[in-house]
Amino acid sequence: MKFHYAIFQLKKTVKYLGIYISRNLKERQEKNFNPKIQKTKNILNMWLQRDVSMIGRNKRRHLQKEILAGSRAEGGVELLDFGDLNYGFKIKWIKESRKAPDSLWYFIPVNVFEKMGGLQFLLLCDYDQTLTAAKLCFVHNFSPHKTIIWNNEYITRKNKSLYLQKWMDKNIIYLSDIQSETGQLLSYEEFLKSQLFPVTFKEFKRLLMLSTVEFYSYQHGIDIKSKRCTNKHIRKYLYSKRKISPCGKCFWGSHFTHVHWEKSWTLPHKFVINNKIREVHFKILHNIYPTNSNISHFVNIGTACEFRKSEEEDIKHLFFECCHTKLFWRKMELYFANKTTHTIKLELKAIILDYMNNNQEIQYIVNLFILIGKFHIHKSKFSKTLPSFESFNIEVDNYIKSIRLLQNKKSQHTIRLYEEIFN
Ligand SMILES: [Zn+2]
Repeated sequence: MKFHYAIFQLKKTVKYLGIYISRNLKERQEKNFNPKIQKTKNILNMWLQRDVSMIGRNKRRHLQKEILAGSRAEGGVELLDFGDLNYGFKIKWIKESRKAPDSLWYFIPVNVFEKMGGLQFLLLCDYDQTLTAAKLCFVHNFSPHKTIIWNNEYITRKNKSLYLQKWMDKNIIYLSDIQSETGQLLSYEEFLKSQLFPVTFKEFKRLLMLSTVEFYSYQHGIDIKSKRCTNKHIRKYLYSKRKISPCGKCFWGSHFTHVHWEKSWTLPHKFVINNKIREVHFKILHNIYPTNSNISHFVNIGTACEFRKSEEEDIKHLFFECCHTKLFWRKMELYFANKTTHTIKLELKAIILDYMNNNQEIQYIVNLFILIGKFHIHKSKFSKTLPSFESFNIEVDNYIKSIRLLQNKKSQHTIRLYEEIFN
């Protein structure tokens, strides 16, 4: 009998369920990971071309990440913090693993944790490693009755946390187990009396070395078992732990009283306007607008005003005090006096923060005019021309014409109020 051998070309690589399988490690990495890395790079490059100069394309940030990550009502732009996102995912992972410890996805890690006292136990410990994220959810108000001695990053000896199986077995778990009623650590004699199991003095001394002061730095946690605990909620919580107040708030706070910050921060979002217009307002509020005196700290440039060289240019000057901008705002006041039944007074506070008026309609429209006006001054500065109310008026006309074509609620609202006031 004759055998017919089929001649196979043995395949070195196969693709199974979307993953390349090969004996060659290098090839495996190249085929599985390189295309993904390249794709991510392309996406990030596309982001660089987007209009996000406020955050700084690959450049030094003008505002701290902590401020940018804040909510809009607090002067941020709700920027995603990758650290928090990463923590958020980890917390979610732990949440899921607790729900289904036997599932294919979790049984291995759950078993690994089991060897160290179980995931539940580790989460209660103050273990500053991968579980940092999760510990945030579980540690509530500090209490010695809830603080576990073992694997606690603050209860250390020679920089190592403690774990004594024998003591654990004797039910010495919480800090309260080695404290007297007054909160002091027990002495060796007291300990022997209360715990009724023999411990050598040497072993006991290991615990005496700990410092209780640091325990009191515990803060409220979040409850990951609740349904409300979404990724966004976790991120918000993590952010709240390192929230800082924007410097602009202090700066303008020293100039004005009774500032309604939330209103000022969110003002540009009430209108359908270009991001560039919002940016000018945002930078002024944060006191990071690039006036000549501001830039002169970093590059060799004069501090003189762009409109009139004999004066120094700072934010207040450029947008209000300069004679050219003053004239611009006076013309705007006159325009309202002539074209409407309202008289308005534009003061520094109205220009920098927001304009207040008991009449909601006029307040809305004047704020819109001020925002576009500030953008006009900004454009004039960089194109080295003087602000002109006449060209500003054309800009407003064009703006109204363009939003008239939009169907959304905000623009319809603007149009309605604009017509009410100017007719
Ligand atoms: Zn000037």
